[in-house]
Amino acid sequence: MSRPDLCLEFANTRYWRGQASPTETLNGPDDLTAWVAGNITKEARPLSRREYERAIEVRETVYRVFDATTRGKAPAAADLQALNEHLAAAPARAALRRERNGFAWDVDLRAWTALGVLAPVLWSTGDLLTDGKLDKVKRCANPDCGWLFLDDSRAGKRRWCSMSACGNRAKARRHYHKSREQ
Ligand SMILES: [Zn+2]
Repeated sequence: MSRPDLCLEFANTRYWRGQASPTETLNGPDDLTAWVAGNITKEARPLSRREYERAIEVRETVYRVFDATTRGKAPAAADLQALNEHLAAAPARAALRRERNGFAWDVDLRAWTALGVLAPVLWSTGDLLTDGKLDKVKRCANPDCGWLFLDDSRAGKRRWCSMSACGNRAKARRHYHKSREQ
């Protein structure tokens, strides 16, 4: 089954975006191939350096679009245009495939290009932007973090990427300030 937040997961392959030197997990074509193998298709093959660079372009466009919406702003016109160009160049969402737990959109991977393998990322971007759940796409409340996530909690009040990372750090900081004030 396709994951609705696949696009956010891809955007989060670079994180600590609020810091001077963010953490990059896709440092070259091999890292990208490994990500594709884990998230898109097990039959991942190596991608060229050029396709890798294209993939990073896609990722940064997706990140900027959601970074804007999570701040209550409209995405930049250039980013929306780039996203539309990526979508137009990606293979069409034309066929369903039966899977163990349901169905998934089949991806035509014959061309093996960045936009081909990242088609599910682009589709999930379009779906998140259009299916009325955009207010559930959030950015971690730690400004250094910048992690994007889909808040599917019932109350819809999730603020942190995960409590073990940023939430706990913020809690510890509040505690520290409180005990200093006393
Ligand atoms: Zn965080």
